[in-house]
Amino acid sequence: MSKYIFITGGVVSSLGKGIAAASIGKLLEARGLKAAIIKCDPYLNVDPGTMNPYQHGEVYVTEDGAETDLDLGHYERFSNTVLSKDSNITAGKVYYSVITKERRGDYLGKTVQIIPHITDEIKERIKKVSRGNDVDVTIVEIGGTVGDIESLPFLEAIRQLRWELGEGYALNIHVTLLPYIRSAGEQKTKPTQHSVGRLREIGIIPQILMCRTERPISQDQREKIALFCNVDVEAVIEAIDVKHIYEVPVALKKQKLDELILKKLNIKLPDKGIKNWEEGVVKRLRSPAKEVKIAVVGKYIALQDAYKSIYEALVHGGIANNARVNVVKVDSEELEKQDPKKVFKGMQGVLIPGGFGSRGIEGKIRAVGHVRENKIPFFGICLGMQIATIEFARHVCDLKNANSTEFDKQTPQPVIGLLEEQKQVENMGASMRLGAYPCFLEKGTSSFEAYKTSKISERHRHRYEFNNHYRVQMEEAGMVFAGVNPERDLVEIIEIKDHPWFVGCQFHPEFKSKPDAAHPLFREFITAALKQATDK
Ligand code: GLN
Repeated sequence: MSKYIFITGGVVSSLGKGIAAASIGKLLEARGLKAAIIKCDPYLNVDPGTMNPYQHGEVYVTEDGAETDLDLGHYERFSNTVLSKDSNITAGKVYYSVITKERRGDYLGKTVQIIPHITDEIKERIKKVSRGNDVDVTIVEIGGTVGDIESLPFLEAIRQLRWELGEGYALNIHVTLLPYIRSAGEQKTKPTQHSVGRLREIGIIPQILMCRTERPISQDQREKIALFCNVDVEAVIEAIDVKHIYEVPVALKKQKLDELILKKLNIKLPDKGIKNWEEGVVKRLRSPAKEVKIAVVGKYIALQDAYKSIYEALVHGGIANNARVNVVKVDSEELEKQDPKKVFKGMQGVLIPGGFGSRGIEGKIRAVGHVRENKIPFFGICLGMQIATIEFARHVCDLKNANSTEFDKQTPQPVIGLLEEQKQVENMGASMRLGAYPCFLEKGTSSFEAYKTSKISERHRHRYEFNNHYRVQMEEAGMVFAGVNPERDLVEIIEIKDHPWFVGCQFHPEFKSKPDAAHPLFREFITAALKQATDK
């Protein structure tokens, strides 16, 4: 039977609960345990797939095609923990299924209520993940901040679970903030005390506190927090700001967090350390031998979380090349007004990530034209690949009106268009081409060179596709179809001839990249960029 760790957050949001959960997963795995991580999101959307990046940041896609919270991306990057569509439990999913059951008559005769029906549904969904996968420890992160109205059913569910499981089988970790008041020169523990008090009011007593702080916590402060929050002094963990998120597992291990968790869960296992991570990831991040400058062109550039997995995968590509990747964010709408020569001066590579809608599209097309002509390494992902196709069609194949039907429904040259099945779609939720699909690679291409194998599988999230009607014409003009889906003959990867590195893929390779195992395309993109002179 699985043991459980419940992670809650208090005081403010954005304390890095997701990274804390991911790091704990990593540390437990290093001890030889099989872990699963679940994210509970209290919002009423069934999944974040229909949300705007301004609302939610990136939508992370799992292997089985679920559109999920970006914290699941952290879980997968830090660890090999079990993840699937069941790993993201939203209030929307929970209420939807309870109301569906009610309509079906499953609760006939009863009044359907938050307690027990909603809370039972949450508990059942949590237990399903551990049960189905032979998991030793299930880590459950509860989104939101203690005190929010909407997270209450989730908190009640984990309170009940903790009680049902009993001592030694479940553990509550609370992540809080110790703000530093500059004018007073003091680190304040009161918000942490209040937030733990708030948890206790609803019956949850945390055994470990992870305190986010800018400065080290003194022994006095630790003792004070321990005394007023009812935890052991050694259970006051300092979660100090680090330069890079991948340092977090190392910082937590130094404070023996894994030891403490195992003790509280009554598990005895030898400590084999996390040397590979320290040497292969953290050390390389701290002192890389080289540097490279990459432009990322998008419309959500102002938002740190919108292209989360892309930025992380670039960092991984850097680690694999022993190089620091300096990302320059370029707003695609601005690019419509500016000279690309000036904007891209000094850039050694340009990446265009995924996206939806017509805003900023012409700016992105200009970006591709510039890198194609000036032979600057280019990596187009999903929308980025579609943009590269449109640019090539317009300027190399003389299809002057080429476009995607996403941006111009009436375009006479729809080089990117909808598949028949997508034309029938009425519901916007979970109706894209989602999740892992196979792809065959053509020998002699940059993509084959990167993967060094012919058969790959990558995750998708899109509606539009390369239009095969234009394939021959584009090929004759110098486009290379480096990757094709074997079942449906769909173009998955385009490249162009006579260019140092120009790859556009319809799938999202960023979802499968890890700091200690960079995705082959990101690795090779950075390798190509490092060869690029900086004076262009
Ligand atoms: N908007 C494009 C499509 O739906 C690209 C999607 C994406 O980049 N994720 O096909």
